[in-house]
Amino acid sequence: MLHPPTRPASPALVDPFGRRISYLRVSVTDRCDFRCLYCMAEDMTFLPKQELLTLEELDRLCSAFVGVGVRKLRITGGEPLVRRNVMSLFRALSRHLASGALEELTLTTNGSQLGKYAAELADVGVRRINVSLDTLDPDRFRHLTRRGDLAVVLAGIEAADKAGIHIKINAVALKDQNEHEIPSLLEWCHAHGYDLTLIETMPLGEVEADRTEHYLPLDLVRARLAERYTLTDLPLRTGGPARYVSVAETGGRIGFITPMTHNFCEACNRVRVTCTGTLFMCLGQEDAADLRAPLRASEGDDLLQAAIAEAIGRKPKGHDFVIGRARAPALARHMSTTGG
Ligand code: SAM
Ligand code: SF4
Repeated sequence: MLHPPTRPASPALVDPFGRRISYLRVSVTDRCDFRCLYCMAEDMTFLPKQELLTLEELDRLCSAFVGVGVRKLRITGGEPLVRRNVMSLFRALSRHLASGALEELTLTTNGSQLGKYAAELADVGVRRINVSLDTLDPDRFRHLTRRGDLAVVLAGIEAADKAGIHIKINAVALKDQNEHEIPSLLEWCHAHGYDLTLIETMPLGEVEADRTEHYLPLDLVRARLAERYTLTDLPLRTGGPARYVSVAETGGRIGFITPMTHNFCEACNRVRVTCTGTLFMCLGQEDAADLRAPLRASEGDDLLQAAIAEAIGRKPKGHDFVIGRARAPALARHMSTTGG
């Protein structure tokens, strides 16, 4: 009988609240080919390219985290697949899958480049991806993303599906925008065998729109769905912020990410690194640690891993987002900086 490879012993990163940090999300670019209304302003100033960590440095950084016990790595952005040559990073990181040090290498994408990269992603060992898709209406899609083409994204999703990658659709629930479409989105996802997760808008970064105007609490969405479908809470927890329910009529499941109506921090197992090497210990707090300096200060990982450990020692208990009447965001940085 074959046995799964034994996990190599690695030191654990444990924060002051006893939470084991095993999940790293890495934003590989702040750029994007879309300008989603809730995420970016129309006119964004992106970082000068020379400020970004190189792909080799990103590989070193991720590998240093794997060396201190990170088991799950998610590549995000901006739009990660618009970073030039990004597949070389995936290919390099896949060695940690092969060695068993890493359990999962995944991606969050807007889907625009999936047609091009799906087969290669599957080939390097990506088994699951999250694709952000808020609507199945081409005009609304163009409006919400300001420049996206729904047909291209749907073709990309199909390519990923055909390549054997499991798909989870993430949709931001937006009052007066896609709220009436949520049942059809749910049925479309489940008919294709995709999971669906709904997200509440979070007050990150200055955008033109007033977010309060489109903020839609998910307990309301859930109550409305419960009028049409039989929803049953699932015990499934991924260490992440989503709570899942099964939908009897479709046989699928739906997740709810509710940063605004429920605090999801108590089981948080994750940290985030930006494309400039800044480590954020909490999506909803400003405190951060610079990892670029220790990364560049020596070729070994000792300084880097010491900086990581020191930063995890400051991981806060939780965020305190409040969606207020004021237009000012709770945090100045955009979601595209830390990748969600
Ligand atoms: N470009 C990729 C994408 O769209 O999937 C990856 C980066 S994007 C910042 C990651 C996720 O953050 C997307 O699912 C997006 O819908 C979500 N997001 C962006 N801004 C948000 C906000 N203000 N509130 C809630 N979710 C947001
Ligand atoms: Fe780009 Fe993703 Fe932000 Fe939309 S949500 S603008 S696709 S980074």
